[in-house]
Amino acid sequence: MSHESFRPGRRQWLKLSSIAVVTVAAARSDGAFAQAAKSGTPAKRVEENEPQAQQLGYKHDAAKVDKAKFPKFQADQLCSNCSFYKAKATDPWGPCDIFAGREVAAKGWCSAWVKKA
Ligand code: SF4
Repeated sequence: MSHESFRPGRRQWLKLSSIAVVTVAAARSDGAFAQAAKSGTPAKRVEENEPQAQQLGYKHDAAKVDKAKFPKFQADQLCSNCSFYKAKATDPWGPCDIFAGREVAAKGWCSAWVKKA
């Protein structure tokens, strides 16, 4: 039985390095999926606690809009009838131009709301 120390050659070193990179990438990917699964929403959806969402007062549920902070809010204003909402009004989630095409809730609202023509 040999007691030589492990000394990888150049090829072995490159192979080990590539395995390490793939492993780290997979671990990070699993983390993203775990985070999305934990929150119950895919990462592409806008979250209420994001800086831009907070600035615009975005809520997934328009009934929860801070009416003191956004006095122009009207109960019939919803993402689904906003000109920036790019999905059918019956779709529960859809892309919003204000949030770079990321999804917002059809029943949501933010202060950038503009009546769909
Ligand atoms: Fe909803 Fe319109 Fe605000 Fe986008 S811009 S989050 S569709 S209210």
